[in-house]
Amino acid sequence: MTSLAPFSTVGRFLRGNIHTHTTRSDGLLTTEQVIATYRDAGYDFLAITDHFLADYEWPLVDTRAFRDDKFTTLLGAELHAPRTEMSDIWHFVAVGLPLDFAPATPDEDGPALARRARAAGAFVGIAHPAWYSLSLADAETLDAAHSVEIYNHGCQLMHDKGDGAYLLDGMLDKGHRLTTYACDDAHFRSPDFGGGWIELKASANEPDAILEALKQGQFYSTQGPRIDDIAISGDSLTVACSPAKGVLVVGQGYLMSFQFGTGLTRATLPLEPLAKSPWFRVIVMGEDGKRAWSNPVWKDTL
Ligand SMILES: [Zn+2]
Ligand SMILES: [Zn+2]
Repeated sequence: MTSLAPFSTVGRFLRGNIHTHTTRSDGLLTTEQVIATYRDAGYDFLAITDHFLADYEWPLVDTRAFRDDKFTTLLGAELHAPRTEMSDIWHFVAVGLPLDFAPATPDEDGPALARRARAAGAFVGIAHPAWYSLSLADAETLDAAHSVEIYNHGCQLMHDKGDGAYLLDGMLDKGHRLTTYACDDAHFRSPDFGGGWIELKASANEPDAILEALKQGQFYSTQGPRIDDIAISGDSLTVACSPAKGVLVVGQGYLMSFQFGTGLTRATLPLEPLAKSPWFRVIVMGEDGKRAWSNPVWKDTL
């Protein structure tokens, strides 16, 4: 059996959230309070991503002073610029921005702003696509994106629109090799803290190592369930996880393989039903219904 990344990668898993707001834009808690909340809950790293808009005086929150041996911050923002089919502005997060990242200019549209963020070194994630009815045609123009939010807890809690699978899978089917992440997008005006995060394998709990691992897709996403291993052996996939009621492997269209049971901690699934799909991804469904999601795996990289 051959374990797949990030399970095969050297390092340890770090818990992190890469989409969060403070009083620097429309969040309820100050930067200090937000950082203390994540640190005290056992998170290893956090990116504060306030709305980078003139209304909030272009906040790019300097959290460097909160870094220590056990907790790291990345500098980021949620970027906005005109426009999508259904919305006057785009929403995407940029994590790993330089502090002097310049405000959006009036002639800059979403895809151009995303390209500038990526060129400045940032990881770019397409935020809460379902929440604002982002279309596949829109997303295909955001050619600087690294990743799609598979789950946004705030959007799920307050709008019942937290799921990004439709957009992720559509982009994969169009050949875009994007990764996928969960976040809470906490504003702290509702119980939106902590409902989704990533478990990222990095060589050190340091900003540069975390940013590199983010860009390389060395993580999985979760609402709670743990994925311990995903390994391939011939034409089957073995998933080890915290006790689950279901393990799914999904691919293009309706192609899938699954196992359901009680307290599953290991499932071996045939990949033959997914023979026609160039990619697959794994979903673990905990006994409480909470889910964990692997990044997409492209078969031609195995
Ligand atoms: Zn947003
Ligand atoms: Zn947000």
